[in-house]
Amino acid sequence: MTQPIEARCDHCKQTRPLFLYEPEHGHLGVGMFTCRWCMRDKQPLLCVRCWGAEKQLEDNDPSINEDAETMAKICATNARIIAREEADKAICEGIAAATQQAEGSAS
Ligand SMILES: [Zn+2]
Ligand SMILES: [Zn+2]
Repeated sequence: MTQPIEARCDHCKQTRPLFLYEPEHGHLGVGMFTCRWCMRDKQPLLCVRCWGAEKQLEDNDPSINEDAETMAKICATNARIIAREEADKAICEGIAAATQQAEGSAS
C-alpha cells in the first residue's frame, strides 16, 4: 500500500493525507455533460472526511441514480436480445459463409 501524500485538501484546505476522488458512476449519453463530477477538468484530492462526504453526494445524486436504473433496464433487455441473437447466430454465420463462397466463386 502506498503512503498517501500530505497536502492541502481541495475542500477543507487542511493539511492532511489526501486521496484522489474518482467518481464510480457511469452515464447514458448526455447526462455526463451536466454532471458535476464528470464535468470537472481535474478530480479533487480530498482528505478522508471530505472524500467520504463527496462519495455520499455521488451515491445520493438523483440524476446519477436515474441513469443507473435506466442502464440496468437496458442491460436486462440487451441480455435477452443477445441470448436470442446467439441462437440465430449459427444460422446467420452459415448464410454469410455461403454468400462469401458464392461471391468468391463468382469473381
Ligand atoms: Zn478535507
Ligand atoms: Zn457523472
